[in-house]
Order: sequence, then C-alpha cells, then structure tokens
Amino acid sequence: MEQFDIAICGYGPVGSTFAGLMGKLGHKVLVIEKNSGPSPTARAINTDGEQLRTFDRLGIAERVVENSNEIHRVHFSDAELKPIQTIDQPIGVSAMGWPNQILFYQPELEGFIRSSVEAIENVAIKEGTELLDFKDDENGVTLQCKSSSGTEEYRTKFLIGCDGASSSVRKKLQVNLDDLEYNQEWLVIDAHLTQKVNIPTNEAMQICNPKRPGTYVPGRRGHLRFEFKMMPGETSEDLEKDEKVWELLSPWINENNAVLERAQVYSFHACIAKSWRERNVLIAGDAAHQMPPFMGAGMGTGIKDIANIAWKIDLLLNGKASKNILDTYQKERHSHAKWTVAQTVTIGQVIEGFCAAAEGKEYEPKGPSYDVNFPHIPSGIYSDPQDMISGIPVPQPLLMRENKKVLMDNVIESNFALITKDQDLNLSEKAKLISNSLDIKTIFIVSEDDVEGRLDGIFNKYSTILVRPDKYTYGGVSDNSEVSNMIESLEDNFSLKV
Ligand SMILES: Cc1cc2nc3c(=O)[nH]c(=O)nc-3n(C[C@H](O)[C@H](O)[C@H](O)COP(=O)(O)OP(=O)(O)OC[C@H]3O[C@@H](n4cnc5c(N)ncnc54)[C@H](O)[C@@H]3O)c2cc1C
Repeated sequence: MEQFDIAICGYGPVGSTFAGLMGKLGHKVLVIEKNSGPSPTARAINTDGEQLRTFDRLGIAERVVENSNEIHRVHFSDAELKPIQTIDQPIGVSAMGWPNQILFYQPELEGFIRSSVEAIENVAIKEGTELLDFKDDENGVTLQCKSSSGTEEYRTKFLIGCDGASSSVRKKLQVNLDDLEYNQEWLVIDAHLTQKVNIPTNEAMQICNPKRPGTYVPGRRGHLRFEFKMMPGETSEDLEKDEKVWELLSPWINENNAVLERAQVYSFHACIAKSWRERNVLIAGDAAHQMPPFMGAGMGTGIKDIANIAWKIDLLLNGKASKNILDTYQKERHSHAKWTVAQTVTIGQVIEGFCAAAEGKEYEPKGPSYDVNFPHIPSGIYSDPQDMISGIPVPQPLLMRENKKVLMDNVIESNFALITKDQDLNLSEKAKLISNSLDIKTIFIVSEDDVEGRLDGIFNKYSTILVRPDKYTYGGVSDNSEVSNMIESLEDNFSLKV
C-alpha cells in the first residue's frame, strides 16, 4: 500500500492550495478528487490581500492580480438602483503588499493553482477517484477509494477533508454543525459581455428591492455576477428559465450584448462545524464552515484555515512538535471563521433592513454591525492583541535586497521571523536552541527598506516582533532583552520538541 505524509480529500480551491503549500515544503502529498478538471463554473469571485500572500507562496499571486478586477465602491441601492448608502473600497496595493480586494474568475484561478501544484513532483493527484471510507488509528489513516480501475487503498499520516459543504470526511467523523439559522435560496447568474456596454465596471451593488433583493458584481474581462433572492411562492424551475433570467438582467444586459454561463438556484447556509479535528483527521474550507456569499469570504476563510494548519503539520512531520500542536488549529481558526460567517449574515440583514425601510416597515437586525474590524486570532499569540498588531497578519513592506526591491514574504519564506532594527538581540541559550530548531530568520530593517512606512505603526510600539510562518504576528517586545522570553514561549504554545 502506497504511503503518504498527507492525504487531501478534495481538489477544490482550498484542497489544491493546501496541496501546493505542503508539496512545496517537501512532503509527500496525495490528492483525491472524485471529479476531473477544475470546477467549470464560477462560485467564489472575491479574494483579499491576505489570501494573495498565500497564493504568492505558490508563485501565482501576480497572475491572479493580472487576471482580476478591482471594485472602487459598493452601493446599497433602492429598487431603481439609486444608491442609499455607499462604501468606498481602498484600491491599489495595500499594507499586505498586494491589493486589498480583487475579483477573479474561479475556473481561471483553479487553473493557476493547479498548474503550480502539478509542477511539484512529490504531489500525486488522483482525479476521478472518490474517497469511500477511512480508518484512523494511532499512527495514521488508511483510505479506501474508488476509481474507474476499481478500489484502491492508501496509507497516510494525516487526512485533511477539503471536500466541500457536504463533506463526507466530516460526516464520517460524525461532526455536527452549529447552525446560525440563515437559510435562503438565491438565483446565481454568471454572464459574459460580448460587447462593450455602459454599466459600472468598478462598482458593485447590493440591491435592496423588497420585491427582489439582488446583487450585481462586475468581474474581470466582462464577467458579470448577479444574485437574486428567490421569493415566497417561486420555484427554482421558474427562476432558472432563460426568459426569466434575461428579464431579471434587463437593467444591465440583454441577449444582444452578453451570453449566459449558468443560472442556478443555490441554498445559502450559515453554519460552522463543532469539531475540526479527530486524531489524525482534520477538516478545512467549506467542510468546516459555510456562509452566504454577500461578503465574498467563503473560499477565503478556507484559504486562511489551510495557511494556519500547513506550518503546524510541517513542524510535526519534521519531528519538531508533538501532535498537541494540532489542537491549536480549531482554537485559532474557529472563532475567526465564526465571526466571518456572522458578519456575512449581518450584511444579509442590512439588505433586509433597507428593504423593510422601503416598505415603511420596522426591522431590527440581530448581531454586530457589519463594519466591525476583522478580529485577531484568539490564541497562539504572545502579546496583548489589543495592540492591533498581534494575532493579525503582519503588514508586508518592500525590502531592498541586492539592489532590488523584494516583498518581505519572499525573504521570510515559510519560516518564523524576527523583524527588528536591532543588530544584536543577545538571545538566551534556550531561545537559541528554539531558534535553531525552527530556523527562525532575523530580518533587519534598514533605512532603504519599507520606504512606504508599512511597519511604522509596529516600530512605534515595539522594537522587535516575531512573525509566524502564516505571516500572523505572534507578538512584540519594546525592550529587546525580552526577545528570548518571547521565543521561549513558543515551546509551550506550539508543543515544540526542543
Ligand atoms: C454563488 C456562490 C458565490 C460565492 N462567492 C464567493 C466569493 O466571492 N468569495 C469567496 O471566497 N467564496 C465564495 N463562495 C464560496 C466558495 O465558492 C467556497 O467557499 C469554495 O469553493 C470552497 O472551496 P473548498 O475547496 O472548501 O470546497 P469545494 O470548492 O466545494 O471543493 C470540494 C471538492 O471536494 C470534492 N469531493 C467531495 N467529496 C469527495 C470525496 N468523497 N472524494 C473525492 N472528492 C470529493 C468535490 O468534488 C470538490 O471538487 C461562493 C459560493 C457560492 C455558491
């Protein structure tokens, strides 16, 4: 039976990105996917600067940006498409070193991810292969799969279920979902312009029409995304008819200037798995959480899951941490993901609030306001997260290296890193031991670096910070004699074997 370090069930955007990260770290990876080829239709359309940093590790971030569109404004509009409220979006390169938010076309994005993964020799991809069952014991997991050539068995140290909303891995583990009780059906339409049309290309719209709430999002190179709520008494068959679809699209496009890719009713849910790991089996992406698409954050939340787990499994496979490190995955990611699910529901409620107001009705939205800042991770950090530095991704400056400007992530690579202006950190023996074992890099910031001042907020408060391999700031110290304590604390926090 062939042996692997990691088996990934599902070659969607989350599973494929994870395969790329683990493959590039040198581990022997198996990907099992029941279908063949990238998903032919767009679902996810929106990504952010943090995910682009993960895509950069696969060497594809520039291609993703080149094949994308940027939104300058999001309007909440009335039924006549007149803005009621407008939110300006930051455009251009952000403190993440990449654009803050861009719109991509999912089949193209999956193609970019796959071309990167498929160039890695130590990643085996079995498409047209379904995971039927698995058995988890003390030392690993035995997988039973089915393909056109019959049944196959594989052995792996870890199995990660990136197998989407109806995850069979989650079901086999008998993990229940916490339901945030937002269940609605919406018609999702993707269309492509065949001619230039006078419609907004950099403005998205949440249409607060009480008779038919909707969403308009202009994607890259004439790709357009529309979503319309299915109203009481309607059926999916009614809504998916071409005639009905073109009627709904008539304020923007028609059959003479655009073609339809698909029009399909989706059930939107808001839920999160109660448990994300059982022994050697973990779940990530839609298998662990689902949300309506109003914030465009479903795939992104999954990409953040696997960026969190990749370096922890890497330490484990390299014998540098014990299995307890895997307990930190759900601790760090669950509340973060739950916040995203809840905020997405809140955006749905904002739309409903405006719709109610248009009909002169009262509406009392539940939950926090949608503009609450994105939260820090609640554990796996050293300093007080109220500093707005720890537990969130570190800003990414350009550094001058060998007379060239390079993004800091390309200097840190997949390591922990101390970022400091101090040449002499004078570490304790224990801190040196941990630093050597983890290969912690020290990035000296000199005057030619960070001319944009992206790290200014950090150096106003701290003299040195420690950044984790997922580029989240672990913590900072204002007195460099405390750097050793910060490094030493990694041992307990991540169950290191030193
Ligand atoms: C209309 C719509 C709009 C959206 N818009 C956005 C957006 O703008 N931004 C965003 O971030 N997200 C968005 N999302 C969410 C996003 O599409 C999902 O979060 C994302 O695709 C999840 O990726 P995944 O890899 O976890 O799962 P999936 O993409 O569902 O992939 C799971 C894979 O596992 C395979 N699989 C399942 N079971 C097995 C098995 N037993 N054996 C082998 N293979 C198996 C499946 O064939 C599939 O390929 C949207 C979703 C919808 C429906």
